[in-house]
Amino acid sequence: MTDDARPYRGRFAPSPTGPLHFGSLVAAVASYAQALANAGEWLVRIEDIDPPREMPGAAEAIIDSLRAHGFEFDPPEYQSSRLAVYDRVIEDLVAAGAAYPCSCSRKVLLKTARPGHAGLIYPGTCRNGADTRRRPAAAVRLRTDAAVITFQDRLQGPQSCAIGAEIGDFLLRRGDGLVAYQTAVAVDDAAQGITEVVRGTDLLDATFMQLQLLTILGRPHPEYAHFPVVTGPDGRKLAKQSGATAIDNKNNKNNILRALSFLLQQPPATLKTASLSDIWAWTAENWDFSPLCGLLSQSEKSIMVQ
Ligand code: GLU
Repeated sequence: MTDDARPYRGRFAPSPTGPLHFGSLVAAVASYAQALANAGEWLVRIEDIDPPREMPGAAEAIIDSLRAHGFEFDPPEYQSSRLAVYDRVIEDLVAAGAAYPCSCSRKVLLKTARPGHAGLIYPGTCRNGADTRRRPAAAVRLRTDAAVITFQDRLQGPQSCAIGAEIGDFLLRRGDGLVAYQTAVAVDDAAQGITEVVRGTDLLDATFMQLQLLTILGRPHPEYAHFPVVTGPDGRKLAKQSGATAIDNKNNKNNILRALSFLLQQPPATLKTASLSDIWAWTAENWDFSPLCGLLSQSEKSIMVQ
């Protein structure tokens, strides 16, 4: 259901859990370069829907870093300003029988659910009505079925998932009452007319849930391109929450060149003394995703910076 007739629109959607680090800069560069190469638009969306995980001032720090690195964008949308929209979507899905309230605690789930692609596979306990005698049903789950969700990832090739069996009825609203990431992302990718989602392979499995939701909501599916995530010395993905160091805005040109090298773009050595706008002009002209095909993760250390 990809709607190729829409004008290209990409996005960078950071959660403000910490300042911009090298891994998130790579996500910003990949999505921005892809939008430049397609003469499209690029939006920044602040995904501030999980206050317990957020760091005060992080959203502003991320935006400042992006501007300091020469990214051009309109004032970002904050998901925290759209909570009523997500609630409405969830309530409509419940009213239509496509989703249902769930009162199961994490403790119960740990005992009854088996592990799947994206966390525990819900055993269906509340499908026919939640037992609210001991616990209110604050969570809401999407009713999945035997559908097989498929998509062609621009970098990772054909993807397929029997969503009911492999992921199960996933959360639209969490037990703590907060909107689930999948709901907010799918609703906003649709509302903002995003035609291509460029992000790290850590979110490859999340795509099945987002596509399922977009299908149920009757909205077009964007294209997807999942590039290799940056791993730290421990082999794990660099993450703001695990204290990945903030990038230094004063090294802006070098940071962009490092990110381009990580994305296997081979920027010429002459760009080291060029201006930021020359670096972006070179990127718009030369951006090529193909060397990243099939690569799931890589360490920055393994990349030769010219
Ligand atoms: N907000 C998510 C993150 O910072 C990314 C969401 C997305 O790109 O879909 O990990």
